[in-house]
Amino acid sequence: MTKAILLPIDISNTASSQKALSEAIELSRTRRADLHVLTVVPDYGMALVGSFFPRDYSDKATREVSGVLDTYVKENVPDGITVHQHVRAGTIYKEIVAAANEIGADLIVLASHRPEMQDYLLGPNAARVVRHARQSVFVVRD
Ligand code: ADP
Repeated sequence: MTKAILLPIDISNTASSQKALSEAIELSRTRRADLHVLTVVPDYGMALVGSFFPRDYSDKATREVSGVLDTYVKENVPDGITVHQHVRAGTIYKEIVAAANEIGADLIVLASHRPEMQDYLLGPNAARVVRHARQSVFVVRD
């Protein structure tokens, strides 16, 4: 039985997740599962690139993103769904996989890619999540 559904959202590109959001809401409702919405603030990996950002960049970005995610959830997730919000910083697919394990999610729902990238069927993060997650992954295509 599905108890917790994880919906990772790229908060800077929410239009691409509209269909995944609808599917996740429908599944949460019919399976009476909690919905966990997650946004990852990407880190800039290499120390060289990271050195161009202020030291507290990640904390500030995380705070700002939390506000944006909160508004998005309030505007898009209907009453009656038990919803939790998560903001993490790091490598996108690793944080999605780690969050799924920590939350105890049994299903991850995500969009395959941005709509404008029609020539490939699976974006880089979606592909890595499918490859590395222990949970079932529902890849929603437009
Ligand atoms: P694209 O490069 O076309 O955006 P991705 O593989 O990066 O393809 O995105 C596919 C899905 O991965 C998104 O719809 C979203 O579910 C998830 N994703 C991408 N970026 C993030 C992010 N920063 N935080 C959370 N989830 C993300």
